Amino acid sequence: MNEILKGIPASSGISIGPVHILGREEISVSKRSISEADIAGEIVRFEEALIQTHKELIALQKKVSAELNQEQAQIFDAHLLVLEDRMLIEEVISRVKKEKVNVEYIFHEVIKKYINVFSRMEDEYLRERIADINDVSKRVMRILCGKKKKSLSDFQEPVIVVAHDLSPSDTAAMHRKNIIGFVTDVGGKTSHTAIMAKSFEIPAVVGVEVATSKIGEDDTIIIDGISGVVIINPDEKTIAQYNQARQKIKAQDEAFISLKSLSAQTIDGRLVELAANIELPEEIPFVLEHGAEGIGLYRTEYFYMNRRDLPSEEEHYEAYKFVAQKMQPYPVIIRTLDLGGDKFISQLQVPRDMLPFLGWRAIRFCLARPDIFKVQLRALLRASIHGKIKIMYPMISGVEEMRQANQMLEDVKNELRAKKIAFDEDMEVGAMIEVPSAAITADLIAKEADFFSIGTNDLIQYSIAVDRTNEKVAYLYEPSHPAVLRLIKNIIDSGHRNNIWVGMCGEMSGDPMFALILLGMGLDEFSMPSRMILPIKQLVRCINMDDARKITEAALDLSTGKEVDEFSNKKLKELAPEVYKIIEQS
Ligand code: PEP
Ligand code: MG
Repeated sequence: MNEILKGIPASSGISIGPVHILGREEISVSKRSISEADIAGEIVRFEEALIQTHKELIALQKKVSAELNQEQAQIFDAHLLVLEDRMLIEEVISRVKKEKVNVEYIFHEVIKKYINVFSRMEDEYLRERIADINDVSKRVMRILCGKKKKSLSDFQEPVIVVAHDLSPSDTAAMHRKNIIGFVTDVGGKTSHTAIMAKSFEIPAVVGVEVATSKIGEDDTIIIDGISGVVIINPDEKTIAQYNQARQKIKAQDEAFISLKSLSAQTIDGRLVELAANIELPEEIPFVLEHGAEGIGLYRTEYFYMNRRDLPSEEEHYEAYKFVAQKMQPYPVIIRTLDLGGDKFISQLQVPRDMLPFLGWRAIRFCLARPDIFKVQLRALLRASIHGKIKIMYPMISGVEEMRQANQMLEDVKNELRAKKIAFDEDMEVGAMIEVPSAAITADLIAKEADFFSIGTNDLIQYSIAVDRTNEKVAYLYEPSHPAVLRLIKNIIDSGHRNNIWVGMCGEMSGDPMFALILLGMGLDEFSMPSRMILPIKQLVRCINMDDARKITEAALDLSTGKEVDEFSNKKLKELAPEVYKIIEQS
């Protein structure tokens, strides 16, 4: 019988395939009693696992020092030290003898104790050793449990990855590998893991809570990223139904392709710009295929992930130049580093905040680390002569930060001018408006910026106080909450009163139901996962601005998010039935 699990739809599409459970060995280590006679064997098993791990680490160290450099290879010295820690080894052996329990269980318990002790240490350096202990212990555990480590790029055949959690950098590693979908226990619709899945067009369901405990390594599953359903070991009839649904989605996508060469213009002639959000330059071909007329958000932090060093100015420059040239004559808005929240970059060794989304992230981090920020600014400016680059700063909370960031940009411009290095003197510089304080004082910030781009993913989480990555409070994450709509309206009106254009790069602009209201508010640019561009274009082409304004006014008069959803759903069905079909399936 089909077993059905329900989660949060994170990236649309349907996948059917075998499962690979990622990181299961971290989750369950069973306790097994052993006899007196088994003790020696358990200790030998442990010692062999240590020797094997040692060999693996030395081999890895050699490879890294040959391919990268000596400094990066030194990271393994810390790992080897953990492996050779006599106190740790002796504690494991003596507990196996005393408690007569299998060695992997004892080892796991001892490691947990070590991690606990280190996490309470005052010294930041020592606290950071937790990552080394974790890494080494996982290697030892894998050998003890007879599991081979699989990397996300190892798969020869298509698989669906099931994991407790996936970091945005794990997801970045899935790009163009044999991974046809993923399911996680935790996560919300606008966590960066979900956002990346959408960009790579990998169907995904997050926040399933029991995925890793209910799904087994030998299972086949269907994931339905439209309704958020996961079906374990489906019967033939269900597989046939889903294959049919998959064909329907494909046909629908193809039907929208005819819109590619048409303009994004309302019936009465208002033109809006429909742009794409990207994480990696490799996405450009998809973006163009979907008819984007620009990049409204290039999230540059992925450039810093899955590597052991910081990107050099040249690497930044080459990536930005590539994107700017490929997107010509359209604009490319490059967002400066938005580290923090749910995105961490291992080589920066930034201590984790208690509340990472409220902590040392984005522009706060960049202003405090001009050594890192200026490298990116220099590369951005140099690349600006190769296309139509604009830049924007994330997480601006008020005028002060905007001025400080602009001052740093001006300093870098002066350095370039002194060295006679060319850059676009007219490059536009914008602010992301994603913090309520910025949304409320948008009239003041508008005087310091050339444009605004509204980051609703964060704006919603901050204004409703709901963590965007937490599945337990996902039901509160409402783009249509009256508070959110009022803030957005204020941002757009303030921008327009100050003669600057206003765009939106949060996920909300790619949702037809909300796009209708945003159009009526006068939003100038909509930037979204590329797959949604043509459906939104279809919507824009079905509407005239008078109707859109009336819908917006009526929506702003409603008292709850639910009422707004029902109302705009109804209007969408009346005005753009083809686009409504997409929502109906979700
Ligand atoms: C946003 O917050 O809406 C946004 C686009 O930025 P990110 O999702 O990267 O935080
Ligand atoms: Mg944001």
